[in-house]
Amino acid sequence: MPLDPEVVLAGLDDEQRAAAMAVTGPVVILAGAGTGKTRALTHRIAYATAIGAQDPARGLAVTFTTRAAGEMRTRLTGLEVPALQVRTFHAAALRQLKFFWPRVVGGNFPKLLESKARVVAEAASRCGLPTDTAIVRDLAAEIEWAKSSGHAVDDYVRKAAGRTMPADLLPADVARVYSSYDDIRIDRDLLDFEDVLLLTVAMLDQRQDVADEIRKQYRWFTVDEFQDVNPMQARLLELWLGDSQEVCVVGDAGQTIYTFTGASPEHLLSFTKRYPDAVSVRLVRSYRCSPQIVALANRVLDAATGPAAALRVSLRSEAEAGPAPTITAYDDEPAEAAAVAAQAAKLIAAGLLSREIAVLYRTNAQSEVYEAAFANAGVPTVLRGGERFFDRAEVRTGITLLRGAARAAGSQSDATAQPVELGQEVAAVLSNTGWMPKPPAGSGAVRERWESLAALVSLAEDLAASQPLAGLSELVAELDRRAEVQHAPQVAGVTLASLHAAKGLEWTAVFVVGLAEGMLPIVYADTPERIEEERRLLYVGVTRAKRDLALSWSKARSPGGRTGRNPSRFLADLTGAAVPQQPKSATTKRRKVAHCRACGRSLVTAAEATLGRCTGCPANLDADLYDRLREWRLRLAGHRGVPAYVVFTDRTLQAIAELQPSDSAGLAEIAGIGPRKLVEYGEQVLELIAGAAVANIALPEAPPIA
Ligand code: ATP
Ligand code: MG
Repeated sequence: MPLDPEVVLAGLDDEQRAAAMAVTGPVVILAGAGTGKTRALTHRIAYATAIGAQDPARGLAVTFTTRAAGEMRTRLTGLEVPALQVRTFHAAALRQLKFFWPRVVGGNFPKLLESKARVVAEAASRCGLPTDTAIVRDLAAEIEWAKSSGHAVDDYVRKAAGRTMPADLLPADVARVYSSYDDIRIDRDLLDFEDVLLLTVAMLDQRQDVADEIRKQYRWFTVDEFQDVNPMQARLLELWLGDSQEVCVVGDAGQTIYTFTGASPEHLLSFTKRYPDAVSVRLVRSYRCSPQIVALANRVLDAATGPAAALRVSLRSEAEAGPAPTITAYDDEPAEAAAVAAQAAKLIAAGLLSREIAVLYRTNAQSEVYEAAFANAGVPTVLRGGERFFDRAEVRTGITLLRGAARAAGSQSDATAQPVELGQEVAAVLSNTGWMPKPPAGSGAVRERWESLAALVSLAEDLAASQPLAGLSELVAELDRRAEVQHAPQVAGVTLASLHAAKGLEWTAVFVVGLAEGMLPIVYADTPERIEEERRLLYVGVTRAKRDLALSWSKARSPGGRTGRNPSRFLADLTGAAVPQQPKSATTKRRKVAHCRACGRSLVTAAEATLGRCTGCPANLDADLYDRLREWRLRLAGHRGVPAYVVFTDRTLQAIAELQPSDSAGLAEIAGIGPRKLVEYGEQVLELIAGAAVANIALPEAPPIA
């Protein structure tokens, strides 16, 4: 039953209420972290439902991460609107595409490609390009950008003008990989993440009957985190709406963290241009974070530069005062993780629920050391997130057993049935999977499986508390209903998540870890815009905390390892301490692809890369210099008792004779002349280039090279 409309509104401040009461027509809420945007949006739906202005069965709420969708679902359920569909853009599109596939395309639905890396690597190799992890990652990101922006292969080169290319490749090379990637994908009947959106957009665009049907099904649209919408998602929303204006969007430009995929806060910022009649609301009070955390968050953004900086609004905290955030340096990553796990254990011992704690990091690879540390400390963790709860193998098995037990109980005569408490009954059924009421020691995968089943028991206990007559069949019906809308029960455990996945969520205590240069900002953030995006990621991270916030970094990766790391430059903005930046060469050590100096094509083979031109392109080699270089090499190799190629290969000599650099910087550019050879032979080679005769070059006394 819907709530009393007044009860719904009672939980809102004036501005939020204005948004919630605008139940028809377009609404936009633009506000900072923790100001209650998601709260206003969910209350708007609840209020509209309560007064009969919207039918939740015909509403669709979308957001960007499965975790955020889960959070929104939990809030809507709390507001007695459990029936409304909450999905990510991707999941909503996938559902529609699958549904209409038999009618629009026919045949089996293609398999979904979870990660592009393998196929991109194959495509790169078909194009004769390198396939290192870093290049493949950058190429995949570039393909994602192109697809999310709606740029087809043929258009790519034109649209990518001015973009930084992966590994200095030429746009034409990236286009070849893009094209070859799609060929392989289509050959194998695979759909990637972006294809799902692209095809749904195309389907709605081209099939009036499908568009009509979808518009008949969904009448009210709500989008959270709208700052991160990419062109394809924005287009999909437009198509869902058709002529309708029943849309409410909320977002914060200061939390834009997906521009690398083509997302842009422009859609949010220009919403009132598109819909001049929109009710527009701004919120500035942070209800989530303590004043201490808000002060730190404001400082993170104070140092921002670029266009987003101009738009930022300082937050004011309405929340209770809390402890000052801490910034700590550790010797190495395991020490950092152990200290974080110990602090979390202390908070839990002091009465905080483990699900009120999160550890946030920049890359998923960082989770491992935290999983190990928390396992050592005996603190359960939730790595997979609440989102896919109903897809977990143990949960499926558990529900199948419960369904069987419910059926068996239903066929028994009531006279023989003993009244048993539902929670105990469920525990007994689940014991068939080996589950026991006492948690296993440690954490990790075993503990996570245990927690999933424990969540089913708690759900049964909650159900029995709210509906004392409920039995197994009511529980199974409740589980089916929740599975249908992916409404996972809460599972105990400290959340381990990436900063990207933490968007929109909140915890009482948050540890933002690994704040070293190269991790945050991540080493491949190589433009000022990308650095600013990394700063916003930190802002997102720190504003997840309600009461306790701890920032940390470590000086080395492993115990006793090189302590060459520096704290993140963003920490310097917070503490005022200068952070020595890594020298450029150390942070940009990624492999780059060289180009032919004659025709400009990307050079693929090692031979071409050393020459600095395609083998087929004309060389302007100074033959006399080349001969002298070879003569010098022969003398030197003889003097040292090493084979000639150990000094320099033919190809390197050829490149020197073609390029004739005039200083050691120029020499260093030539492949095959590393720092050591530069020191040992640089002077002599430069003399030869300047015209010296071999006989006049003094042979060095240095020991033979290895
Ligand atoms: P983010 O930008 O991180 O997504 P948000 O703007 O969506 O944040 P919410 O998550 O809706 O913010 O709200 C942050 C916290 O503040 C929540 O716990 C919410 O319940 C609480 N809150 C928001 N508005 C109010 C209010 N008017 N009264 C009491 N609590 C509120
Ligand atoms: Mg939110």
